[in-house]
Amino acid sequence: MRSALICGAGGFIGSHLARRLKAEGYYVRGVDLKYPEFSTSAADDFILGDLRDPYVCKHVLDRPFDEVYQFAADMGGAGYIFTGENDADVMHNSALINLNIAPLCVRQRVGKVFYSSSACIYPAYNQQDPHNPNCREDSAYPAQPDSEYGWEKLFSERLYLAFQRNYGLRIYIARFHNIYGPEGVWRGGREKAPAALCRKVAEAPNGGEIEIWGDGRQTRSFLYVDECIEAIRRMIASNFTGPLNIGSDEMITINDLARKIIRISGKRLSIRNVPGPEGVRGRNSDNTLIRQVLGWSPNYPLELGLRQTYAWILQQVKNAATTPAEEVTQLSCANGLRGYSG
Ligand code: NAD
Repeated sequence: MRSALICGAGGFIGSHLARRLKAEGYYVRGVDLKYPEFSTSAADDFILGDLRDPYVCKHVLDRPFDEVYQFAADMGGAGYIFTGENDADVMHNSALINLNIAPLCVRQRVGKVFYSSSACIYPAYNQQDPHNPNCREDSAYPAQPDSEYGWEKLFSERLYLAFQRNYGLRIYIARFHNIYGPEGVWRGGREKAPAALCRKVAEAPNGGEIEIWGDGRQTRSFLYVDECIEAIRRMIASNFTGPLNIGSDEMITINDLARKIIRISGKRLSIRNVPGPEGVRGRNSDNTLIRQVLGWSPNYPLELGLRQTYAWILQQVKNAATTPAEEVTQLSCANGLRGYSG
């Protein structure tokens, strides 16, 4: 039986991957600060632990797993990573996790290590034109990510690549572009644009309005979580170790994204653009390389993914309306991670 360790198995992508690996017959160990918030983990064995702590890491990585998936990071949407308020925590917490995990994978002779980097590593100077951003894998240097979150991801890419060069660690690096779907964070400050907009639309009274950060003409692309999991599995089964974009190339403005969600909801709502953190002007996944090396690329239409996500978030909003306020606070705290206490 093949074995896998998922770091960050209580999070959005990690919990979806645990389900997929179990369906493929793996033995799965998960580790996270928290259990998945919206479903029971599919992992055979789930350790609640802080991966900033080297002793926890040693305990978790106590055998030669065939595959390690490293998703654990201190992260969130624009409201978390672009305000500057969380920069020290984001860099420190996520870097510590990677500094701990990389050498242990060598020591335990792990077969393959998958590291989830981000489109946020791409230089800001290539993403100023909302209609023509450049996010080719080979455009990462000269580096100029627009956030400390992006700099930490770039540092950790290089860290893993150095372990590959010097210690023979087999490392797969993917750069995710805005993954969305059911069971992702949808409130509390760490949610990303699709979830935040679905929530705003679901909560708005018919005939009301929703607020959008920025002028709404900034562009992005969004990848449905099932496609992300498929891409991860195809990549790790291949000989191509990356870095590789895993994203959709169906680019859309944020205002149009909101209009799509409003249409799906069946409500009549207007949009008000307000100042707020928004990141680069344009970003789109360049899928030339993934098509070339995997002979496949994501193509699930945004419209379909949004329908499923909206339906799920609408249900969460309805459930929340009947949940006592005290429980809501506890849930948001469980999802948080501030400061280093180790
Ligand atoms: P997520 O926040 O849902 O999952 C990350 C998990 O890591 C969380 O459950 C969190 O509790 C856990 N974690 C954080 N610090 C930890 C620690 N010290 N010890 C143990 N666990 C810890 O995020 P996600 O959307 O599932 O993203 C997974 C990975 O992919 C992250 O590394 C993220 O940076 C990267 N990524 C995601 C996206 C996206 O759109 N979702 C885009 C680019 C990159």
